[in-house]
Amino acid sequence: NMHESRPVIRQLDDAAINRIAAGEVVERPASAIKELVENAIDAGALRIGIDIADGGKTLIRVSDDGCGIAPDDLPLAMSRHATSKIDGSDLLNIHTFGFRGEALPSLGAVGRLTITSRAEGADAASLGVAGGEMGPVKPAALNAGTTVVLRDLFYATPARLKFMRTDRAEAQAISDVVKRLAMAEPGIGFILRDVSGDGEGRAMFRADPETGDLFGAMHQRLGSVLGRDFADNALKIDATRDGIRLFGYAALPTYSRGAAVAQYLFVNGRPVRDKMLTGALRAAYFDFLSRDRHPVAALFLDCDPTLVDVNVHPAKSEVRFRDPGVARGLIVSALRHALAEAGHRASSTVAH
Ligand code: ADP
Ligand code: MG
Repeated sequence: NMHESRPVIRQLDDAAINRIAAGEVVERPASAIKELVENAIDAGALRIGIDIADGGKTLIRVSDDGCGIAPDDLPLAMSRHATSKIDGSDLLNIHTFGFRGEALPSLGAVGRLTITSRAEGADAASLGVAGGEMGPVKPAALNAGTTVVLRDLFYATPARLKFMRTDRAEAQAISDVVKRLAMAEPGIGFILRDVSGDGEGRAMFRADPETGDLFGAMHQRLGSVLGRDFADNALKIDATRDGIRLFGYAALPTYSRGAAVAQYLFVNGRPVRDKMLTGALRAAYFDFLSRDRHPVAALFLDCDPTLVDVNVHPAKSEVRFRDPGVARGLIVSALRHALAEAGHRASSTVAH
């Protein structure tokens, strides 16, 4: 009988919706860390502490000294599509990392999450969420800012759990995410600790807040993240064309790598992985490097948010320029120019 077998359409409940969305937002511990650290940056934090255990699988803890969340707002922060960052009227004009209001509810759907926060002029409070079920808001002890603890990521989704890699590989991915964000935010201090087992914890990465002008602070921070050698061999880049500014540091051809592993690109302060942009980088070095060598660079593209769409993917590492040719042309010409000048300087030093 056709009638009996007709599928029934029903509205999914919130817990199911959050679990589905979580699959897109949270692939592995490093993606949870990315969301939490971006929230801390959006909150105006000056110091961000990140603790992990067992590659982030059993414990992720992100603490910040940012603006905090008032007790009454905690349940809202944990609700889907609730955000303090945009009002929905202008999706083309986004200045914060977050805007979807999806991270916290997604994390609360795939792990045991506790958020403790203290907004200025308010008491500290905490809220626990597990399997998408929110507990009550409780009084808590915290001096300032926000601490999010996420335990047992994917405990309720064994299929996901199976896809996680070794603790070491997950910790590596976390370190990579934290370092990329640290490169983009030299004014913020970061400390990433591995607190596995019952020891005191081991610092995996540490960068104190940098002061000074844009290039001074950036140069210092790139030195802490990529090493002094990079800083000593890097050319300053600063060029603007058609409303896009390109700035940062690109290493001399003599400081290249055997693989394209140290190319860090940012659009409006967001770390991105983009084939068009890395292609432009390769093209810029084409005449300066042998085919088996790859450039090392940390480059920032800033433009009016309306010239670039960051709304392409929930993990937000892809971008789409309104005019990709301008970004590409700017990278190729600015880097070629800097590399050619450095080459001239080197050859005239030899000649004298
Ligand atoms: P989004 O970042 O897209 O707004 P989230 O789910 O990540 O969505 O966070 C929801 C809301 O919770 C944020 O808009 C913000 O108001 C608040 N929030 C989250 N993390 C923090 C934090 N570390 N400090 C202050 N407020 C926060
Ligand atoms: Mg967020």
